[in-house]
Amino acid sequence: MSAINSIDLVELTNNIKAWGMALGFQQVGISDIDLHHHEAHLQAWLDAGYHGDMSFMESHGMKRARPDELVPGTLRVISVRMNYLPPDASFAKHLNSPDIGYISRYALGRDYHKVLRKRLKQLGEKITNALSEIDSSTTQYRPFVDSAPVLEHAIAEKAGIGWTGKHSLTINKEAGSWFFLGELFINLPLPVDKPVEENCGSCTACLTICPTNAIVAPYKVDARRCISYLTIESDEDIPESLRPLMGNRIYGCDDCQLICPWNRYADVTTEADFHPRQALHGQSLNTLFSWSEETFLKNTEGSPIRRIGYEKWQRNIAVALGNAPFNETSISLLKEKRGMVSDRVDRHINWALDQQLNRKIDIQENRQQKRLIRAVEKGLPRDA
Ligand code: SF4
Ligand code: SF4
Repeated sequence: MSAINSIDLVELTNNIKAWGMALGFQQVGISDIDLHHHEAHLQAWLDAGYHGDMSFMESHGMKRARPDELVPGTLRVISVRMNYLPPDASFAKHLNSPDIGYISRYALGRDYHKVLRKRLKQLGEKITNALSEIDSSTTQYRPFVDSAPVLEHAIAEKAGIGWTGKHSLTINKEAGSWFFLGELFINLPLPVDKPVEENCGSCTACLTICPTNAIVAPYKVDARRCISYLTIESDEDIPESLRPLMGNRIYGCDDCQLICPWNRYADVTTEADFHPRQALHGQSLNTLFSWSEETFLKNTEGSPIRRIGYEKWQRNIAVALGNAPFNETSISLLKEKRGMVSDRVDRHINWALDQQLNRKIDIQENRQQKRLIRAVEKGLPRDA
């Protein structure tokens, strides 16, 4: 990059930011690649086993904090954010409807990986084209979106996008946290942005609200307890002790974001791709559980939900049905689906049936008790 001087780099950086905004990102920041401050935190998190069975986290090791080991030659990371909150924020009310399947807001529209990666690639191409006129050496870039080997929140913080909240997600003062992050690793010595200061202050709302107590300390999330991990990443049985705490959350969880006061300032998305799909939004657990594998694949085409596969989908909904109010149709469906998918799903179905049947017994006992009390109060025989 010998032909580029510092003035060119400042101008190029301004252009990169303008191109990024024109491509639909709400913010573009630039960080260097020195993340060594995060290595101790990352190692302690891994040592505590908080990554659960995400063994890829361990196998990437410190490469996550060393972008130039992941992509040799990288000098800077261009960090971008894109809002995903729809204009109609009614999705949150589904948390109060236990017979509706709650799907994390980010997953209701088109797969963000595809949307962001395509735009980042376009940004990389624009940079390459612009430089090809003044410098014959090669511009190298590589886009990442929610990729395991990248410490995206630490990078976003350094790039001035936002600070890492106590729930471990990135928060922006003007935009809250309902946005996706993406990174473009690049071999250009661009001027960097100023890191963002932490602004959680004394607030602990996310720690208190977390249904499974997964935020074990500020900035420390035990993935093994986090509903997002349990419903999306984990291939195992969901621990029985956590199932009742999951309520109707069948894919991911938004509670720590919903409670965060900074999300009062959240911006809505300008991307139609992120608007909720009808087949997934506000559907009853019975409807979602009754889907065949074919219907699941059809309704989740182009959605991030598809990657968990039908087995985990059924496993998650079975747990939610176990947490739902007593419902004869749910019981019939659970029985009907037993033996159709896998032993794992059957174990969750059996648990759900136990919960539903316990509720049925409770209702019957309650009715009997009420009848008895009424009879006694009226001075009638006890079996009246
Ligand atoms: S996503 Fe849900 S379960 Fe995970 S830390 Fe946030 S509130 Fe807790
Ligand atoms: S809820 Fe409070 S502590 Fe948690 S991330 Fe938001 S501001 Fe920080």
